[in-house]
Amino acid sequence: MIAVNYNKEYDAIIVGSGPNGLAAGIVLAQNGKKVKIIEASDSVGGGARTKFLTLPGYKHDVCSAIHPMAMASPFFASLPLQNYGLKWITPEFPVAHPLDNEPAAIMEMDVHRTASGLGRDNQTYLNLFNPIINDFNDLLPDLLGPFNLFPKNPIKVAKFGLNAIRSASSLINSKFKETRSRALLAGLAAHSIQPLNNAATSAITLVLGAAGHAVGWPMPEGGSQSLSNALAEHFTFLGGEIETGKMISSVKQLSEAKAILFDITPKQILEIAENEIPKSYAKKLNRYRYGPGVFKLDLALDGPIPWKDENCCKAATVHIGGTFEEIAKAESQVFEGIHPEKPFVLLAQQSLFDSTRAPEGKHTVWCYCHVPNGSTQDMTQQIEDQIERFAPGFKDLILFRNKMNAADMQTYNPNYIGGDINGGIQDLRQLYTRPVNLFDPYRIPNTSFFICSSSSPPGGGVHGMCGYHAAQAVLNFLK
Ligand SMILES: Cc1cc2nc3c(=O)[nH]c(=O)nc-3n(C[C@H](O)[C@H](O)[C@H](O)COP(=O)(O)OP(=O)(O)OC[C@H]3O[C@@H](n4cnc5c(N)ncnc54)[C@H](O)[C@@H]3O)c2cc1C
Repeated sequence: MIAVNYNKEYDAIIVGSGPNGLAAGIVLAQNGKKVKIIEASDSVGGGARTKFLTLPGYKHDVCSAIHPMAMASPFFASLPLQNYGLKWITPEFPVAHPLDNEPAAIMEMDVHRTASGLGRDNQTYLNLFNPIINDFNDLLPDLLGPFNLFPKNPIKVAKFGLNAIRSASSLINSKFKETRSRALLAGLAAHSIQPLNNAATSAITLVLGAAGHAVGWPMPEGGSQSLSNALAEHFTFLGGEIETGKMISSVKQLSEAKAILFDITPKQILEIAENEIPKSYAKKLNRYRYGPGVFKLDLALDGPIPWKDENCCKAATVHIGGTFEEIAKAESQVFEGIHPEKPFVLLAQQSLFDSTRAPEGKHTVWCYCHVPNGSTQDMTQQIEDQIERFAPGFKDLILFRNKMNAADMQTYNPNYIGGDINGGIQDLRQLYTRPVNLFDPYRIPNTSFFICSSSSPPGGGVHGMCGYHAAQAVLNFLK
């Protein structure tokens, strides 16, 4: 067992200022610890940054854009982020899902109104989501924490788990008949970035759906950077220090801290600290698996997207991919190393709801599709064809494009190995037992090193809960 060295300059140094690094920093600073965050990039925020990627005056979220998980995060809810200018904008509809031969499927915040748009599946949708929505706040501590054999709410978690453990395909095929409900749920399931017939892809479907009904799918005014800035300002208010523009390439650069937290993924931890960590643990980290990548496209538009179905203008998030069958096929193809001709496209149109994002009358589009890990293929045409399919005339409005293939994503943020945006695939084996299957997933055994990134439970998304739980493990270590 390693003893804490009390002569060090800092109690903790955190490598990386993503939402989890910032969350961990805040928890430690709240507990009176002397903490420094070191960030490779010139700005804080990791996957929650906003930049002028196209033309002057057009603000684009480089990575995350829509934040149901930040809104649901019990830790973020406990912070006075509004004091630092953070304002949430919650569009009327969490998600719109256009279809070819019928009106778009719509997820409204009101579960009953959503269900009433789903024809014969009305009651089935209510039966699936109502119990989760009703138990949402009780379920969150368990859903947004490490795997726990003794959950805080065992009965509620067990009830949730019965459906969550299934593949999204089996859930949808066994319960839902209407094209529109099947498509809507497939769009949620595809956030898992894996074939929809993989076990536990229902978990993300249920969590994102329930979050939409419980808290909405909001976005910060001014972009995701506003959330990162508010977290960073609160951290420094509590006495924390931040150094940007410093890439850590060896753990030896960090020796003056009692504890070191990595807001980075296993591959990079091995690169910078392999000789300092137990061989058996390093071997397990070497077996950690990454999932498909993303191709990201940001557009400056001359006007709003001309959706065939005007209801699509009431949601910041639009899922484009047509039917359940089409989306399931595209996501399976990606896993087989194929670039789909008709990819599933996740699109956000923030400027419809936030006038700070683009010059008056102009608009931004944020969109991406899944691609095989490490892909360098340009998917612009496939993405734009999919949008044009549901919004004829859209292509004529494009003023400027910023493209990032999966390899570019990793250059932008070294955490996106091969373009994997979740810090490792979130399949059944790696969802709650990431990065390795241990009682304490945050501590690297017999070291003063901790992992606080989305490669630890509960995984990807902007919620800060990996950082929160890792910081609890550090506080325990420093006792
Ligand atoms: C295109 C895209 C869309 C997304 N959409 C959403 C969304 O809409 N909603 C949502 O909730 N989530 C979304 N995500 C996922 C979300 O951004 C991530 O899950 C989240 O940012 C993970 O946070 P993190 O703190 O674990 O790591 P990161 O945010 O990746 O932060 C890690 C930080 O560490 C820094 N770093 C890495 N290596 C080093 C080093 N050696 N030395 C110093 N610093 C280093 C990086 O520069 C980075 O700033 C999206 C991601 C992408 C890429």
